[in-house]
Amino acid sequence: MERALKGVSAAPGVAFGAAVVLDRVGAGEASIIVASERAAELGRALKALDVVARELEHIVSGLREAGRIAEADIVETGVLMAADPGLTARVEALVMTSGRPAAEALREAADESAQALAQLADPVLSERADDVRSLGRRAAARANGFRPGTVSGVLIATTLGPADVAELATNAKGVALAGGGVTAHAAIVARSLGVPMVVGLGADVLDLVDGEEVVLDGDGGLLVRHPEPGRVAAARAEAERRHGARRQAIAHRLEPAQTKDGRRIRVLANAASVAEVNEALQQGAEGVGLLRTELLFLDAQAWPAFAEQASFLSLILAPLTGRIATVRLLDFGGDKTPPFLRGAAGRGIELQLESPDALRSQLAAIVDAGINVKLRILIPMVTSSEQVRAVREMLATVLAGRPSPQVGAMIETPEAAHRAAEIARECDFLSLGTNDLTQLVLGLDREQSKSAPVANVKVLRLIDATMRAARDARIAVDVCGEAASDAAAMPIMVGLGVDELSVAAARVGEVRSWVRGLDYAACREISERRLLSQPADTAG
Ligand code: PEP
Ligand code: MG
Repeated sequence: MERALKGVSAAPGVAFGAAVVLDRVGAGEASIIVASERAAELGRALKALDVVARELEHIVSGLREAGRIAEADIVETGVLMAADPGLTARVEALVMTSGRPAAEALREAADESAQALAQLADPVLSERADDVRSLGRRAAARANGFRPGTVSGVLIATTLGPADVAELATNAKGVALAGGGVTAHAAIVARSLGVPMVVGLGADVLDLVDGEEVVLDGDGGLLVRHPEPGRVAAARAEAERRHGARRQAIAHRLEPAQTKDGRRIRVLANAASVAEVNEALQQGAEGVGLLRTELLFLDAQAWPAFAEQASFLSLILAPLTGRIATVRLLDFGGDKTPPFLRGAAGRGIELQLESPDALRSQLAAIVDAGINVKLRILIPMVTSSEQVRAVREMLATVLAGRPSPQVGAMIETPEAAHRAAEIARECDFLSLGTNDLTQLVLGLDREQSKSAPVANVKVLRLIDATMRAARDARIAVDVCGEAASDAAAMPIMVGLGVDELSVAAARVGEVRSWVRGLDYAACREISERRLLSQPADTAG
């Protein structure tokens, strides 16, 4: 008999596969290692820690070879944590005295250390809590025999961090979490990788038997145990359709994204992890049009320091050598508010300009990490040209005479769209944030709203005004909001004259093929008709 567990859809797609249970509740009582096998189990646990330490060491030596000493030092703290005698003693006690399996002992010991660190008043040390947890999770996965990219079933866990999803889920069929939220970074990474994900399934999901075959329905927010043959067949067909689309995208990655009548559109990717960058490049992305840096620091207890940012950024930018990499300044605020900014008013650049030292550190980290890419710096939530000038002035002090990367403004507030002409004069490019723009123009609540009616004429008129301002200033415009990969909205954006579309990594190939199927002249006609319509005539 089928049994469906109900959760919340976090990334679309349907998958059929064997459950790979990473976490268990109450497993302590269920699986106690017998005394005679504990020494071997401890050996497995310590070996897993050692393997993870060596993986991190490999990253460290790569960074040192590249002369990135500060970043190497940061990653090296993970190596030291893996060898921390306190951690290994606790793992030993959990396995030898309590008979805990290796993976659980590793996770539990790391969680305890993380909790202790999180209590510390020193923000630098308390921030390391997540690193220890992540180390524990990595080592537990290794103890269970998982290597990055080798898991091929449906991953089941309590929660996963974005790095865990990026690392473990690249070959997985889906991810099912007992906890988690749809806006969690892990969900953003899953969506971007095209891996179906359901969250909020409750602790029952952790009772699944390893290897049991399930259907994960990322569209309906369900995990179905003992699925009936009809459901399995439908899931298989849907997964095959998605894989086919991806294979097509990869096969056509070298074909230019050009309309039938010859208009070239550059298709770039939105990303926040190395896995997303790699996926986007495989699908033919010409670079990154939006690197959402704030997603790396949503748990921060203070403005992220230079070295920490440089370390993350250089890892993400490494595959982009020689290509466009558009790094957005931290867009904190709204639903992306880290603990240290709770209660602060403002959003995006407004918040950063209130903390000039933090802005300087971020600019320095971006410039440093972006040495081998065609770097563009993007300013979020701009409302005036003074803000762009302030960033440029700070950037000049950081550069100290070195050539400047391009600087662009997000046009995602009605104020910015109204002042597009003066903002464009200060910029090398503009980027339309249709997600925020649509919600703000139409007075919707982005966290609640289920739709973004970008084709509403009030929104289109602001986009059109932005396009005209950019043309007058002879600078390029891209769309990096969801409208760029929306089948109905994207041709209108092309018709309005956008030069670039920046879309989720998993959508790059599809959007490139859409461009090849378009007729620019026809798109222009559609967008002109839309602009002339009255608000009530327009969809949304
Ligand atoms: C947007 O608002 O359209 C955008 C791309 O920014 P974010 O979704 O990160 O707020
Ligand atoms: Mg935005």
